[in-house]
Formats: sequence, structure tokens, C-alpha cells
Amino acid sequence: MPELPETETIARDLDRAIAGRTIVAATVTRPDVLREVTATQLVESTVGTTIVRSWRRAKLVVLDLDSGDRIVVQPRFTGALLLDAGELPETERRFSTLHFTLDDGRLLHYRDIRRLGTVALMGPARFAEYSATLGIEPLDPALSAERLSVLLRGSRQAVKKLLMDQHVVVGIGNIYANEALWRAGIDPSRDARSLDASEARRLHEGIVSVLTESIAARGTSFRDYRDASGGKGGFVEMLAVYGRGGLPCPRCGARLVETHAVDGRTTVFCARCQE
Ligand SMILES: [Zn+2]
Repeated sequence: MPELPETETIARDLDRAIAGRTIVAATVTRPDVLREVTATQLVESTVGTTIVRSWRRAKLVVLDLDSGDRIVVQPRFTGALLLDAGELPETERRFSTLHFTLDDGRLLHYRDIRRLGTVALMGPARFAEYSATLGIEPLDPALSAERLSVLLRGSRQAVKKLLMDQHVVVGIGNIYANEALWRAGIDPSRDARSLDASEARRLHEGIVSVLTESIAARGTSFRDYRDASGGKGGFVEMLAVYGRGGLPCPRCGARLVETHAVDGRTTVFCARCQE
């Protein structure tokens, strides 16, 4: 599932590619991906509007329209926003659920293989209300090491599970939780509230550094993830623990341990240098 860096990559690419373009037509072929709007309403509300910008909130790609409405896309497992100037392969196009026709002739598809992702249309008040239910952005200066320390102390969960709790901090899934904890030298199964202030500081640094470096590398590629031009991310080369169970720890050389002890998800960590 795309996490923060992959979603950020999609949103930034789209912003460069489509900000300022006007939607001249909209076609919905699989209305079951729609939320909070019918196919007819989506067409009526978007045709004739201009896309002001594309940006990310949590794991959502948000397209601001000059009408004030926002198209809110949650790609989840197999969703992607793909631009098509006539060269989109049939293997992608057949999973298109809806598309917008832009004033330069290109199509913007939302393709979703398993159709577990969603597309919503929200007015400003509804979006603000919805956004308020989501956790804090990890790269927002508001999430300082001190603030993270307070969140950790108030939790009864394992630290890894807390990092992945989207109501607390958004955008961190299994890949970046594993990586941030390895960088911080913290055992993923530790009680969040047992971390002291210096460990919280290391964890904060691990989160910020891994997300920032991954964004710079255009995210981690995995099955079904594509950025807006259909490319894959480069951060997979830089993963220290995720997907590396049984291989040597890049820091100390001990064999990395793979377990399912935290919330049933695959956790990979170094039992020697993560405490
Ligand atoms: Zn190690």
C-alpha cells in the first residue's frame, strides 16, 4: 500500500503536470469507487472547473478545484492516478474506473485493479471536517520530538503499532515504521510509553529522515504501485530492514529477525542493535 512518500510523489508529479488545466469532460465507468458523490454529481460539479493544485494529506491525493471543491483520492492497495496522452497501455486502461478529460486533450484516469481505493468530492467545510479526523503529518514542524514523546507516553500500544495508527500520525505504514525504528535503534515491540525523551528524539529523527530520503528517491516501489507517469520508486534499494528478514543488519551484521508478533504484521528488526 502506498505510504506517505509514494503518495507525496504522485501528488507532486500531478501538480507539475496538471495544475492550471481545465476539466472539459468526466466519465465514470465504475461508480463503486465513488464516495460522498454520485457519478452524475461528480460530472456536473467538475466539468468546467480548473485544477488549482494537487497535494497530499495523509495517504490521500487531493485535487483542489477553482470551484472550492476538492477531489479526494485514496489509492489504498491498487489505485493510481495515471495521465494518458493516448499511450496508456490497455493493461492499465482496462482497470480505469473514471477519467477526466483535460483541456489539452489528455485524460486523467483513476485506475484501480481491485477497486479498494476511493474517489470522493468534498466541499471546503466537509474536507476540513474530514481532515480533522486524521492524525498529525509526520513532516509537519508541529510534530516535534517533544510532541512525539507526549504521544508515545500517552499510548498503551507497541511503539510500531502506534507509528502505524493513522489517527495518531498519518502516512506511516509497515515499510516506514520498520525502517524508522531500525534507524532509531528501538525494538518495534517495546511499549510506546516506555521510550524516554532521548529515544523519542532518535525515533523522531528516524521518521523524518526515512520519509524525506524516500520522497527524494520517489518512494519505494512494490507490486501495483506506480507514480503518475507509470514509473516505480527507487527507495527499495535503500531499505535497511523491510523485506530483508534473515539477511545481515546493515549496521552491525547480525542476522535480521522477521516476526509477526506486533499486530500480526511483518516486522523485521535487528535483535542486537535495536533495544
Ligand atoms: Zn544490527
